[in-house]
Amino acid sequence: MIYFTPGPSQIYPTVKKHILSAIKEEIPSISHRSERFHKIVRNIDIYLKSLLNIPDSFQIFFLSSATECMERIIENTVERHSFHFVNGAFSKRFYSIAKDLKKNSTIAEAEPGLGFNFGSINIPQQTELIAITQNETSSGVQLKPEDTYELRSRYKNALIALDITSSVPYINLNYKNLDCVFFSVQKGFGCPSGLGILMVNKRALKKSEMLEKKGINVGSYRKFSSMHSQSIKLQTVETPNILGLYIFEKVLKDMLTKGIDKIRQETDEKAEMLYKHFESKPGYELLVKSKNNQSKTVVVINTKKLSKNIIESLKLKGFHIGSGYGHAKDFQIRIANFPAHRVNDVISLIYNLKHV
Ligand SMILES: *Cc1c(COP(=O)(O)O)cnc(C)c1O
Repeated sequence: MIYFTPGPSQIYPTVKKHILSAIKEEIPSISHRSERFHKIVRNIDIYLKSLLNIPDSFQIFFLSSATECMERIIENTVERHSFHFVNGAFSKRFYSIAKDLKKNSTIAEAEPGLGFNFGSINIPQQTELIAITQNETSSGVQLKPEDTYELRSRYKNALIALDITSSVPYINLNYKNLDCVFFSVQKGFGCPSGLGILMVNKRALKKSEMLEKKGINVGSYRKFSSMHSQSIKLQTVETPNILGLYIFEKVLKDMLTKGIDKIRQETDEKAEMLYKHFESKPGYELLVKSKNNQSKTVVVINTKKLSKNIIESLKLKGFHIGSGYGHAKDFQIRIANFPAHRVNDVISLIYNLKHV
């Protein structure tokens, strides 16, 4: 089966080999205070920063999921006011978490399938954090990173948090314009789930420190100050997902070897094939009409037929595509286009789609 589901998804082709070598090297038994573990953490820092062109001043924290990253960001950087761009289930989750943590949060909302007209949206001046989902996985909408940078220069006191869970490593960002960026590894990196990556700059660390000094609750063992003092020692407070970190390290190295330019170019190529196929196919309609907002990594299609029928008949051919998210489940399909999906896999998927 080839998994075109938007996460968990197809594992990166080398993951099987890395799981076997992890067992051979007895990785699940090593101490998270050992030199062997430090080496994994050191390599992740070097490889990830080099693959995505992240400034060295960013700190990388290891959490359990992207959802946890949302909660930690709110806890650590917002005393009272956050602002959220909501256009689907994942951006809404970020907002709900802020509400659950009793923050005074406000939103700009767009219908699923649409982006935002950033210039026309007024964000309250007291906003401490602006939360944006760069690629909304529930609806297949991508936002232009430049619009995010623009917000940062308009709202100088606010930190910017960007969720790139379903667009990394494809999305090419200028990290100098961002404060907190996060993802989990079971989507674009094709790794086993259970590992979230949160990258924060000095501004974000300072904000958390300031709140902590002020006596605000910023959490316990995963407050930024605790994670920071451990991460500079290449350690974590708790016993982390060591196997997950090992596999992530290896996949990062494989991607560096392949080259990020090639990964991005292939992603563009596959996305174009997928959109082209559905654009002209009777019984199917692209959910995202504006070309600028069409995600390159998650393609979402409205279907006339019950999505279940399409999904089941493709499964018989060895392809597992996703259904719509939430209430859109029955009349939508979602197809992931991640680095683990080879150009030839997409060609075969399209060939088989022609016959369902
Ligand atoms: C999948 C996803 C999440 C949630 O990831 P978890 O690792 O399950 O917490 C958050 N944001 C986006 C955009 C996603 O696609």
